[in-house]
Amino acid sequence: MKSCGVSLASTTSFRDDGKKMAAGKESSECKDGSVSLTDEEKQLLGGLDSRLFGFIRLHEDGARTKTLLSKAVRYYESLILKAEGKVESDFFCQLGHFNLLLEDYPKALSAYQRYHNLQSDYWKNATFLYGLGLVYFYYNAFHWAIKAFQEVLYVDPSFCRAKEIHLRLGLMFKVNTDYESSLKHFRLALIDCNPCTLSSVEIQFHIAHLYETQQKYHFAKEAYEQLLQTENLPAQVKATVLQQLGWMHHNVDLLGDKATKESYAIQYLQKSLEADPNSGLSWYFLGRCYSSIGKVQDAFISYRQSIDKSEASADTWCSIGVLYQQQNQPMDALQAYICAVQLDHGHAAAWMDLGTLYESCNQPQDAIKCYLNATRGKNCSNTSSLAGRIKFLQHLEQLRANKDHLNPAQKLMLEQLESQFVLMQQVFHKGQSSHMSGSNDEQPPFSTGPAQYLQAASVGIQKQTGHRTLPSNLVTQGAALNHISSHIATSGGQQGINLTKESKPSGNRSLVPEISRHAGDTPNGCVIAKGLSNHVQQLIAEPVCSPNHGDCTSPDLLISDSPQISATVIGKVSEKTSNNHPPVHTKTDNSVTSSHSSMISTTTSSTKSTAQTVTHSVIGLNSPQNNVHKVNREELENLQSSTKTNLPIISLKSGPQIIPSMSVSIYSSSTEVLKACRNLGKNGLSNSRIFFEKCPPPRPPTSPYPPLPKDKLNPPTPSIYLENKRDAFFPPLHQFCTNPKNPVTVIRGLAGALKLDLGLFSTKTLVEANNEHVVEVRTQLLQPADENWDPTGTKKIWRCESNRSHTTIAKYAQYQASSFQESLREENEKRMQHKECSDNESTSSDFSGKRRKGPFKTIKFGTNIDLSDDKKWKLQLHELTKLPAFVRVVSAGNLLSHLGHTILGMNTVQLYMKVPGSRTPGHQENNNFCSVNINIGPGDCEWFVVPEDYWGVLNDFCEKNNLNFLMSSWWPNLEELYEANVPVYRFIQRPGDLVWINAGTVHWVQAVGWCNNIAWNVGPLTACQYKLAVERYEWNKLQNVKSLVPMVHLSWNMARNIKVSDPRLFEMIKYCLLKILKQCQTLREALIAAGKEIIWHGRTNDEPAHYCNICEVEVFDLLFVTNESNSQKTYIVHCQDCARKTSGNLDNFVVLEQYKMEDLIQVYEQFTLAPSISSSSS
Ligand SMILES: [Zn+2]
Repeated sequence: MKSCGVSLASTTSFRDDGKKMAAGKESSECKDGSVSLTDEEKQLLGGLDSRLFGFIRLHEDGARTKTLLSKAVRYYESLILKAEGKVESDFFCQLGHFNLLLEDYPKALSAYQRYHNLQSDYWKNATFLYGLGLVYFYYNAFHWAIKAFQEVLYVDPSFCRAKEIHLRLGLMFKVNTDYESSLKHFRLALIDCNPCTLSSVEIQFHIAHLYETQQKYHFAKEAYEQLLQTENLPAQVKATVLQQLGWMHHNVDLLGDKATKESYAIQYLQKSLEADPNSGLSWYFLGRCYSSIGKVQDAFISYRQSIDKSEASADTWCSIGVLYQQQNQPMDALQAYICAVQLDHGHAAAWMDLGTLYESCNQPQDAIKCYLNATRGKNCSNTSSLAGRIKFLQHLEQLRANKDHLNPAQKLMLEQLESQFVLMQQVFHKGQSSHMSGSNDEQPPFSTGPAQYLQAASVGIQKQTGHRTLPSNLVTQGAALNHISSHIATSGGQQGINLTKESKPSGNRSLVPEISRHAGDTPNGCVIAKGLSNHVQQLIAEPVCSPNHGDCTSPDLLISDSPQISATVIGKVSEKTSNNHPPVHTKTDNSVTSSHSSMISTTTSSTKSTAQTVTHSVIGLNSPQNNVHKVNREELENLQSSTKTNLPIISLKSGPQIIPSMSVSIYSSSTEVLKACRNLGKNGLSNSRIFFEKCPPPRPPTSPYPPLPKDKLNPPTPSIYLENKRDAFFPPLHQFCTNPKNPVTVIRGLAGALKLDLGLFSTKTLVEANNEHVVEVRTQLLQPADENWDPTGTKKIWRCESNRSHTTIAKYAQYQASSFQESLREENEKRMQHKECSDNESTSSDFSGKRRKGPFKTIKFGTNIDLSDDKKWKLQLHELTKLPAFVRVVSAGNLLSHLGHTILGMNTVQLYMKVPGSRTPGHQENNNFCSVNINIGPGDCEWFVVPEDYWGVLNDFCEKNNLNFLMSSWWPNLEELYEANVPVYRFIQRPGDLVWINAGTVHWVQAVGWCNNIAWNVGPLTACQYKLAVERYEWNKLQNVKSLVPMVHLSWNMARNIKVSDPRLFEMIKYCLLKILKQCQTLREALIAAGKEIIWHGRTNDEPAHYCNICEVEVFDLLFVTNESNSQKTYIVHCQDCARKTSGNLDNFVVLEQYKMEDLIQVYEQFTLAPSISSSSS
């Protein structure tokens, strides 16, 4: 095993103390209870660290290793105790590793924490970060786990458990709904041929399931089916794949008509059960399928199998309840529901159904309590309609109670309510009978809600048994529950189903997994699959919808090492997640339409006390299970509270320090440096980075301190008004724009001052010039001016969805024009209406306070239209050369002109064609370069701008909203920014105005009117620009995002072509060059030492910089190209680390060299600080 961390054997303290302690004795427990270790044992322990996590059980002597580890832990602990904690920091790190390997997570966390607090450069220790990440992962503290894992790969890209990390990152990003990142990491895991706790078919399964989660059902189906073709597919994987396919066919409308779908679903599930007859979940799904096609007996049998095969599940019991209810067996239904809520007292659907059942038996008091519980449930979606129902019943009850003392008006009210009640019963009766006859298609409208079912049931009950009363509410008679659930055995007898076995959650069966499973009710909910290291047999897929939910979304999977603790957190995670994703409601498959799939947990203060008592009484019934649950929760809370104060990662100082302000080493001669490197890099091909000064992983800056006072949060936008051409070329304008104090500058009237012909970019001219030119289209919702609402208009969100498609300039022009015409027409109509009924206006505006937004109109935004082709756009591009040099697309003072190749949209012009509301979501420019944007008109644009040093705050907001700051589309909530003391510049850009976005400035833009814009990037030759570009380059690397500007390539070109007189800028460039020089040299030496041939492959003119085909990092000088692509001259480039992952000894690769070492050295040596010129270049 490669050594990439601190090893125990090398820590002196251990040896010394060990000797003292052991005092010459052989390994044994001393009489006083202290422990000692033999030299052999110490040697063994030296090789054990976090990297072994998940692999120990695979060792032939796994058990012996565990015994050794326990002993080592005792030994360490006693040493630490003796030394009163004054031991070397590595000690704690090792103790953390040992506890991690023993799966004692709380102890592992605390040991790692102590190491972190003692060791300031802990970030250099990849095994520590990895171990810490694993602990966070175990606790489902995904935010921190992601950070720790990303940092491992940043400090050591060749880390031997990179595959394990990518797999876990994939899983966590999936839960966080960052699907793009998730897919990227799963793919990175898949190409890696190192050992891993999941097999590649299992990783492929996760990719297929990721598609399913994203509702890309055709992709998912294809991927699943492809998996089934795999030779020697393990039975468990096969069973799970078939299970997913079955459930997907049952749920998803895309996959054919209902009859076909259901028959496929049943076939798949039956095949799945052939592969794994013991899957309770497959049986449960099968039951749902049978139930939905009216095969009641088969459904009962399947549910029974499900209960026999697996742990009791609230979902299953709830489904059984539904079936009983459909059979007009209210007592049995009651008992089944009670089982469900006993197993999961947050099971909103079960509470709801129980409520309807009580209501049907004219026990509104009990019903109300159940409904209240339902609204507090985890996955209660229709809280508001439920609240309405509760109010209705409460009112009815109140009036009934005071029947004899009502005034006439109240009596009338009571009559009305009663008749309403009866009416609903009748309405439902129809709906229900249609279901009973087996036709599912005609369902009662959803809006009637829970009441529907209950009335039918009530009718049924009355038919059967006259006025039967159900046992009163379990909320008040909690103690009765145990009896009832055991009683089920007999009452269920009619169906010949013995339900006793699981009816009472008993023994050591934990409640927790059940609860967590129910988290799966969320649209993106999770399913628990235990143990990465336990392989697939525990990949349990869970239904996303509870029994009487609409079958809406696919199950989701989460892998976790600890079913127990993770369960509680997964619940939280998915709750959080789901809030951001209002579910797409699809039709329900049972006639019981009492609940659906979204969840808003509303524990309002007024209802809280009842909520608690209710919860308690239910908890009381399951005390053993609940103790487990409680403990876990406490543990978690401890963890969370400690997260706030002293969990390692948080206490880190933030602020990227990628370029240390060092000035000595870069002045030493490069030959000396390289000589030193040569001596260091002798031992084969080990990670080159070890020999270099490591840089700490980049981190986003914390919010600037002290916070700005509230009255400074809407600063005036720096604006400059130009009168004439001379103003435009006045040098201080350049200085003003690039001054880091001005995040944005609006240059008003620029086009007029320079007499630019903006008409060249008008829609009319564009159509005449190139009507077939490609336009990328973003379909967006037309939102209120500065707000961003979810599609239903219920709440403000950060995520802003837009679908991408393509069209032509001609077609978009047509759309733009017709949109304008339509708006004129609407305006006229409005004006007419306004005249007619201006009286009514005041009344209608009364609603505005609580009015829901939406539904929103969709609009199309024509974006990223490429104007790089100077033949097609000659006139247009020529017109832009009239601009002052510092804003020109091409100029000597523009870093992007020194790349030697094109980066579309950065050093070329892009055009935007807009209708009102067209939005460019929040972002910083690629690699923090500056940007120039001119509004062509005729309409205006509105801009929102936040200074660079607040990007960390916005990054936090994105994370909180499960968005990727770099990759997702988001639209900030201005109120939240105000609360967080983030200043926002806000201004209107009129036609002819140029907006200069300074380096790193965060901004978002929307069109007020119909207009076109042109934009490109610029890189002023300043220390600030270079620093921010390099920082973002490193942050992108950490985040696995491609840097569009190849900063290494650019730095060398700068050294060749530019005279730098700013000492700060010079030092930074020189330092970067030195680092790269050292890396190239070390890697070169290592390859040669390992006998790998390096083939000269010089560069052609304008050859772009290279990126790794797998991980997208920039690859400079030494390119790892697959043999195949080399012989085909297609040159598929890999970075060293990715090459090694696919081919450990690099046999499948040739190494191409693009620069002579002497040349690089020469460039480095000749790059010197230029004497400063008083005024900077144009
Ligand atoms: Zn790579």
